[in-house]
Parts: sequence; C-alpha cells; structure tokens
Amino acid sequence: MVGCGAALDAVARGLSVGLVEQSDLAAGTSSRSSRLAHGGLRYLEQREFHLVREALTERGLLLDRLAPHLVRPVPFLFPVSKRWERPYVASGVRLYDMLSKVGAYGGTMPRPKSLNRDEAKALAPDLDSGEIAGAVRFHDAQIDDARHTVAVARTAAGLGAHIATRTRVVRLLVDGDVVVGARVHDDLSGEDYDIRARVVIAATGIWTDEVLRMAGATGEPRVRQSKGVHLVVPGSAIRSTTAIIARTPTSVLFLLPWAGKWLVGTTDTPADDEVDLAHPMATDEDIDYLLAQANRWLARPLTRADVLTTYAGYRPLIAEGEDDDPTATLSREHAIFRPCPGLVAIAGGKYTTYRVMAADAVDAAVEQLDADVPESTTSDIPLVGAEGFAGDWQRRSAIAEELGLPLEMTERLLRRHGSRISEIRGLIAEDPSLREQLVEGEPYLRAEAVLAATHQGALGLGDVLDRRLRIGLETADGGLAAAQAATPLVAAILDWDADRASDELQAYAEEAAARTGSVTDPVLAE
Ligand SMILES: Cc1cc2nc3c(=O)[nH]c(=O)nc-3n(C[C@H](O)[C@H](O)[C@H](O)COP(=O)(O)OP(=O)(O)OC[C@H]3O[C@@H](n4cnc5c(N)ncnc54)[C@H](O)[C@@H]3O)c2cc1C
Repeated sequence: MVGCGAALDAVARGLSVGLVEQSDLAAGTSSRSSRLAHGGLRYLEQREFHLVREALTERGLLLDRLAPHLVRPVPFLFPVSKRWERPYVASGVRLYDMLSKVGAYGGTMPRPKSLNRDEAKALAPDLDSGEIAGAVRFHDAQIDDARHTVAVARTAAGLGAHIATRTRVVRLLVDGDVVVGARVHDDLSGEDYDIRARVVIAATGIWTDEVLRMAGATGEPRVRQSKGVHLVVPGSAIRSTTAIIARTPTSVLFLLPWAGKWLVGTTDTPADDEVDLAHPMATDEDIDYLLAQANRWLARPLTRADVLTTYAGYRPLIAEGEDDDPTATLSREHAIFRPCPGLVAIAGGKYTTYRVMAADAVDAAVEQLDADVPESTTSDIPLVGAEGFAGDWQRRSAIAEELGLPLEMTERLLRRHGSRISEIRGLIAEDPSLREQLVEGEPYLRAEAVLAATHQGALGLGDVLDRRLRIGLETADGGLAAAQAATPLVAAILDWDADRASDELQAYAEEAAARTGSVTDPVLAE
C-alpha cells in the first residue's frame, strides 16, 4: 500500500515514477489486515492522541472523497463486563469521536451512545448476558484493503506511473556511495535488468531490513514482524447487527461483518527468525486463542467447525531497540530511514495512514533532488472508481436493470468497482455469459474475474481470487471452486497454455489447502 501510495504521490507532483513489486499489488501485509480505516481506539490508552487524530482525518478523507466506494461506516459495540468500565470506555469513545471532528473531514459519523445490557443485547443478541454489563456504541469504517491498494495503483498508472509486478529488486545500483537505481528480476520472463533512478524509495514493509542490507546497513533489525491472524466464520454463526470490539490480554478482539460472513481477529505474536514472510499461516494455537477470546463474549460459542477459513499477515513494526519489549506495545508510528544518498526507506505506520506515509517518503526523496517539486496533492485526488460513484449509487436501480442483475448484486458491484462498474457493463455487453456468478452462492461475477486480468493488473489466480475478488479469503474451500471456474477465463486473457493453466491451478490449490486445512485435487473447468 505504501509503495503504491508513494507512486501516486510522486507522479502527481510531476515526477517520473516506476514502481516494482516482487509479487502482486497488496500481496504482502496490505491484503491481510482487519480492513479497518480507523484511528485505533486503543492508542488513546497509550496517549497517542496525535496518531489517533491523524488516522481519523485520513479515515474521513477516504470516506468522503478518496474512495467512498471502498470505504464505509460500520457501527461497533464495545461491550464491558463490569459496570464501572462503561463510563471509562464511553469517555474514551467520546474523545475518539471528538478527535475525528477536528479538521476538515470525518464529521459524518453518528454520535457514540452508552447502552445498558438490554439495549446492547437488542443490537447484538448473541452477546452473553452473563458476561456483559453494558456496551458503548460508536462508528468506525471498513475498507477493502487489497482492492483499495489496486485502486491507488491504477490511479497512479493513469497519471503516468509505470508499474511492474512479479518484479523483484535483487540489488541496488551504486555509484560511489550513492544509490542510483536497482537491478530487478522479472519472474515471468526470468530476465534481470537495471532501472536507473535519481532516488529509490523502499516501501517494503516487513522486508525493509533486506533492502537496507542491500545498501550495506548492518546492526540490529529496524523492523520487527508481529503476526496477526483472522478467522472467517459464517454470517449465521453470530447474530449481531453491529461489529464488536473487545479487550484481550494482548490487544483487542474484533468481530467484523464482511461479505455476509464474520471476520474474527486478531492475534499479536512476534515472528520467529525462520518464518516464511511471504506466506504467513494461522496455527492451531492461533485459532484456539481467537475462538476462546470470541467465546468470552458470545452466548452461542464458536467452534472449530464454524471456521470456514483463515488468513494471516505480519505487521511491520518499528523496532525500538528494546529487544525484550513485547511487540504489542510498539508504536504503529512510521519511520523513515536514509541509510545513504539516493535511498529512502519507509516502514511502520498502519494501512489507514498510507497517504501520510507516502507523502513523507516522497518529501524525503525530493530533498535529495536538485529540483523545485510541488507539495503532495493526494488529499485532492479521488481514486479510480470514486469520481461519479455518488451519482451511480443514486441510479443503482436503473443500473441493475441495465445489467440485468438483482439490486443487491448491483450494490455489491458498486461497492467494489465504484463508477468503474462501467467496465463490467462493457464486458457483459460483449459477452452476456459474463453476467453469471463465478460460483453459485457467492456474489462474484465471471466478469469480475475477467476484469481483474484485463484492467486491474492481475497476473495469477491468487491475484484474481484473493486480492481482486477476495473470495479466496472468504470461503471454506479457500476459493478453489472459484479458481477452477476462473482459470479458463483468465487463461484466455493472459495467454496461458494448458500446462501453464494447470500449474497455476495446482499452485493455487496448495495455497487454498494450507489456509483451510482441507486438501482437494483441483479440476480444470472446460
Ligand atoms: C493482522 C493485521 C491487521 C491489521 N489491521 C489493520 C487495520 O485494520 N487498519 C490499519 O490501518 N492497519 C492494519 N494493519 C496494518 C497494515 O496492514 C500495514 O501497516 C500495511 O498494510 C503495511 O503496508 P506496507 O505497504 O508498508 O507493507 P506491504 O503491504 O507488506 O508492502 C510491502 C511490499 O513490498 C514488496 N517487496 C518487498 N521486498 C521487495 C523487493 N525486494 N522487490 C520488490 N518488492 C518488494 C512486498 O512484496 C510487499 O508487497 C494490520 C496488519 C495486520 C498484520
């Protein structure tokens, strides 16, 4: 996310920009978050008021201007188990609400409200009456993280940024002690080539130390990884009209409605030295921990059988030098490193503040250019799909009729594509069979799988199913049925022969099995 944000920030200032990503857009941490555009209520307890305010301003900007189709308000309940806790939580939430109103954005959320046990139960019938003494109701926002990252990348590309995925920086090009570009490896062609640049920005999250080492940095790691796991359970497993946030021993528990299901997160555990950073997975221990935390508050306990699938990610946390600090107490604030001329690295922060991080990184890069470069303007640049969304939303019944789709399906499409629903319309007009669902019972169209490859930069099945459609992270088969259905559609666009298609599907099936714990042999659709 931060790299795409920096590309947009820089190209919008008139700079010439190339972005390389070793895997897919958002394949790192940015498709694995809790999907909240939030200020972080718990940072108030750590008295990080400026961080909370900054993130709430970004939340407001995203909601109101930058990506109203991908970001939406969500009501939350914060239940408490002791009566005395309610005024304490209520005052924190009121402060949170006040901070969101300082500045130009974010004043659109309903006011928080303190509720007694019966009022809370009316909103969330599955809360356990024996456990709760009341709750505080407030609003925050949900964001489709990976889709949003892709929207930022498309917006940057629209302004002239060059973007290459499956392209890994293998070393930095150095002239004397100045970084002057990077040698990259193209995974698809197998070729290496050089890209010259006046400044290189490394926005490589949990891989930051790898890049700093390429520049000769030694010593203690600057970034630590902390694993966070989410479980996905069916919509029927929890009866509640609002999301729920509750305390846990190490951080907070979220129960979040998502695409007719619930996300249950998250854990906060330091990564071992030997982990595979690109493929974080939930362990049995992670799953049991989350079920136990959720069941503290739920009258109908969740069981292992409720877990459809899981996903995990590593937070890039700035190391504070104190090795025995539990990672949960480290600040989410970002840091900029300037290890040598020509190289700027940025890491830390959180998804919500990507735009601020990107602007800071580009400011640091601009300091190294002997040029008059304007300031960041990204607070004024609506992302692809945002412009015209409000009008399309008003006309959604008419659009549903034009597309020949149910209203509910059209609303979901608008929430994913914004005004770029026009691209779906174009595809369906050419081939009406693309109006059909990719797999029965899930609200994703065949046209969306095609669009992922034609317009959204997807180069593999994981790109299509996990980060464009998101179905791979939502279903009990880990997206396998959808992958089987999508393969011929995607193969036709990306020019895969039968062997390549079968290899892609096999690789996807292995990832899906690792996520869900169930192994099925994939069958390629005709
Ligand atoms: C479980 C969990 C829940 C979270 N929930 C939230 C939330 O609700 N709200 C919120 O605001 N934040 C949340 N966060 C934090 C947020 O997700 C991260 O801070 C953010 O996504 C990090 O973005 P990034 O761009 O720095 O890193 P990444 O998304 O990891 O991007 C770094 C990219 O660099 C690429 N890369 C690395 N090395 C190279 C190389 N040599 N060559 C080319 N490319 C390379 C990687 O492939 C990767 O795609 C959460 C994090 C976790 C783990």
